[in-house]
Amino acid sequence: MEELVQRIKEDGRVLGEGVLKVDSFVTHQVDPNLMEAIGYRFAEVFAESGITKIVTIEASGIAPALFAAKKLNVPMIFARKAKSLTMDEELLTSSVYSFTKQVTSQISISRKFLSSEDKVLIIDDFLANGQAAKGLVELCQQAGAQVDGIGIVIEKSFQDGRELLEEMGMRVVSLARIASLQNGEVEFLEGDA
Ligand code: 5GP
Repeated sequence: MEELVQRIKEDGRVLGEGVLKVDSFVTHQVDPNLMEAIGYRFAEVFAESGITKIVTIEASGIAPALFAAKKLNVPMIFARKAKSLTMDEELLTSSVYSFTKQVTSQISISRKFLSSEDKVLIIDDFLANGQAAKGLVELCQQAGAQVDGIGIVIEKSFQDGRELLEEMGMRVVSLARIASLQNGEVEFLEGDA
């Protein structure tokens, strides 16, 4: 997605350890127009898939996921990273090792929001080693829901995430694919959409 690639070139900052900082438009301050364009692009790609729910993980997946959900006219569910006192129902849970925070946390969704009737599109901001997306797939599978695809805003293709998810039989659609973050430079591959 050209608009996203341009924005990463202009405002993305490479940190050591293969991390891209995009906190001025995705992960802290959020650009609503770009998020709308991103959400709508995912909706376009999966328009014929009969998606019934969009599933993401808090916090930075929510903005693009919400716009995709609006365009497809389906609910958006975000997995929670901390259990809330108000979540008194039965939960779907899985554990996820966070690439950026380097801790394992339990993620959860109330069982009542997903069922075996659902066809799910998973959306997340980054794909690194695939642990967050894999955790979301597991939550959907616990509910018996079918995962139709995984939409990623920024894929770091030099890490193993895509391979892991494709080995699980998942269709991965990334709007920006990064080949390398070496020497402070962002090098891109052709994106999927
Ligand atoms: P994974 O689970 O695929 O290893 O990592 C994905 C999660 O880690 C994303 O949800 C995102 O929050 C975070 N993440 C991974 N790599 C980066 C990065 O380079 N920059 C930022 N800002 N977040 C990242």
